Amino acid sequence: VAKDRGRAHYRYYQQQMNLSFPNEALMESHLRRAIEKEELSIHFQPQVDLVTDEINSFEALLRWNNRKFGYVTPMQFIPLAEESGMIMQIGDWVLEEVCIQLKYWQEKGHRPVRIAVNISPKQFKQENFAMKILEKINKYQISPCSLEVEITESAMTDMQDTFAMLKELKDIGVIISIDDFGTGYSSLSYLKKYPIDIIKIDQSFIKDIESDEKNAAIATMIIRLAHSLGMEVIAEGVEKDKQVDILKAANCQKAQGYFFSRPIPIADINEAYM
Ligand code: C2E
Ligand code: MG
Ligand code: MG
Ligand code: MG
Repeated sequence: VAKDRGRAHYRYYQQQMNLSFPNEALMESHLRRAIEKEELSIHFQPQVDLVTDEINSFEALLRWNNRKFGYVTPMQFIPLAEESGMIMQIGDWVLEEVCIQLKYWQEKGHRPVRIAVNISPKQFKQENFAMKILEKINKYQISPCSLEVEITESAMTDMQDTFAMLKELKDIGVIISIDDFGTGYSSLSYLKKYPIDIIKIDQSFIKDIESDEKNAAIATMIIRLAHSLGMEVIAEGVEKDKQVDILKAANCQKAQGYFFSRPIPIADINEAYM
């Protein structure tokens, strides 16, 4: 509740009640220096084509390894980065690193590979976000369609602004996907208005898909919906072969999850897949 009323109030609370939020202020000050101290890295999780078994795309997932705290999960530090505004700088760093990797593969003459980057709502709502993306694409001379931006429904609060930004990104030529689809509160009408390429089925619907008929019904419905609208679909959080069977039967094109591979450091990607 204190959190909802904004950062200033939250901080006040924290000072008063040190015990309720141990380490958060400390963690924030460490996060502030994480980039310069080279504590951040990116892991890549393969996305598997369920028809051909090929891997032509990866999702970039941020990792923070701090001397004091050890590995801190994104669930812990992304909200902190968002509240403090650090997400702008961190998000920019992720985009830069991903472009460098795409450039590297391109120069090595690898087959076309796409990398998907998670974009926080705050980043997406910057007026010059599309400009920033374009600058990076030009700086590294990468093919725009090798870069994918993952946006959640929660970033799409204002219809006009969202449409304008997605249109700008689409015109640049980057791929646009909706992350954690089905968990937001937005209406389905945005699917027909916005230029969306890919729907990522949230892992909560994939979990137990082999035994939970309701989840199976929802996932199957999302796959059909995506296809009817001419969009690609990716299932997240696939952990078992039975889930793969169901997804294949439902014509799901792509999947990612521990069943295929955990997110892994880029050096291992180069060794295993490139
Ligand atoms: P997400 O974008 O939905 O990413 C998928 C999450 O599911 C990742 O967690 C991934 O490691 C995990 N995952 C993949 N396969 C499986 C599986 O089979 N089972 C289970 N249980 N989990 C699986 P991770 O890496 O901890 O990231 C959590 C969230 O943090 C991400 O969710 C994303 O929203 C956010 N995040 C990660 N990196 C970034 C980033 O660079 N920028 C921003 N803004 N957010 C990020
Ligand atoms: Mg994601
Ligand atoms: Mg996400
Ligand atoms: Mg997701």
